[in-house]
Amino acid sequence: MRDVNVGHKFMADYQSIILKELLAEIRRLAEPLKGKRVLHVNATSFGGGVAEILYTLVPLMNDVGLEAEWQVLTADNEFFNVTKSFHNGLQGAPVDLTDEVRTVYEEVNRRNAEQLSRTYDFVVIHDPQPAALRSFAEDDGAAGAHWIWRCHIDTSTPNQALYDYLLPFIRRYDRAIYTMGEYAPDGIGVPVEVVPPAIDPLAPKNMTLVPDDARYIVRQFGIDVDRPLLLQVSRFDPWKDPLGVVDAYRTVKTRRPEVQLALIGSMASDDPEGWEYLDKLTDYVGGDPDVFVLSNLDNIGSVEVNAFQSHAAVVIQKSTREGFGLTVSEGLWKARPVVAGNVGGIPLQVQDGSTGFLVESSEACAERCLEILDRPEWAHGLARQGKEYVRRNFLTPRLLRDYLRIFTELSDGAGAS
Ligand code: UDP
Repeated sequence: MRDVNVGHKFMADYQSIILKELLAEIRRLAEPLKGKRVLHVNATSFGGGVAEILYTLVPLMNDVGLEAEWQVLTADNEFFNVTKSFHNGLQGAPVDLTDEVRTVYEEVNRRNAEQLSRTYDFVVIHDPQPAALRSFAEDDGAAGAHWIWRCHIDTSTPNQALYDYLLPFIRRYDRAIYTMGEYAPDGIGVPVEVVPPAIDPLAPKNMTLVPDDARYIVRQFGIDVDRPLLLQVSRFDPWKDPLGVVDAYRTVKTRRPEVQLALIGSMASDDPEGWEYLDKLTDYVGGDPDVFVLSNLDNIGSVEVNAFQSHAAVVIQKSTREGFGLTVSEGLWKARPVVAGNVGGIPLQVQDGSTGFLVESSEACAERCLEILDRPEWAHGLARQGKEYVRRNFLTPRLLRDYLRIFTELSDGAGAS
């Protein structure tokens, strides 16, 4: 296991952004939890939504008086190939559950569990990669903690054989948290909480950039900032459907030849498929000079993602499966018109026709983009409503409040609703 250094964040800085009542509730819930030790564990500290969430949630837990830390699994590529196949399997893809696959998964979890040497009050395990830790943590200090499994994936139609394999590990937990109620499998045997994720409005990814600064940054990547830009920010992953986004862009371009497309994707260390898929995408784009495929390898960091999202004429998230899709709230928070796949946690964030648009195909995506390009004032009106919806529902202080409630229930020995 490896510690992640999360630095410091302060609840007081969020005062002007969130409701007073929420801040008061956080302070009230945190008081009896002061000094409680919390460990978060996931697979990677870079790339993807979980890392994004923990960089804010963990320091805010510390700021309200808990002693929270974050560790990532130490594992090799063989393990991440296995767990990426589990990720895909939980979203419904076939999985080859050979003895070797099981051994790789269990051995890495066993080895990492052996390194859990401190005592904790709450251990929060994120996603399937470290899900077996609880089963192997029997004889050390962490065994006395309350264990929570936090699943960020859309598991509504999982590969059943894989779920049957993972369920005995999950049943060892005291709570399971899912983004939507329908993601929890029947007969899970663990009290379930439904808690959607959230974005940090004050992180470099989401803090306010004035339009000129956003244009200045975006222009450095070769974008013509006077022509409209369609954008998707996502790992290079088939479920995010970047090829479908290219199809939509091509349709838009037949009517609006000035349009450009940026596909921004990070290469997460726990996502070995990303490299292969990046090649496929580059081939598919076929050298179109108005399509920009960029990633952290091109020096795209949080501020650059912010600039692209703040500048884009349309923020697209054309996923075909999506646990939640932080990028949707990120786009709405910047008051950008959003067109997104009608799947998973996306409809939690977008009310079709009133705060953005939900689509089921590349053609529908193209139509909505054209409508937005044709009627920008109207589209920005919807987006501003989307921003207010995100403010009320999908900012990190709300997520912190939900964790504090769950910790309180577990401390009091209460069952989940
Ligand atoms: N992200 C990023 N750079 C990229 C691609 C993605 O910073 O090139 C971030 C994105 O802004 C978001 C997170 O990674 O905060 C992705 O979270 P999401 O829930 O959308 O998808 P996941 O990767 O967890 O499936």
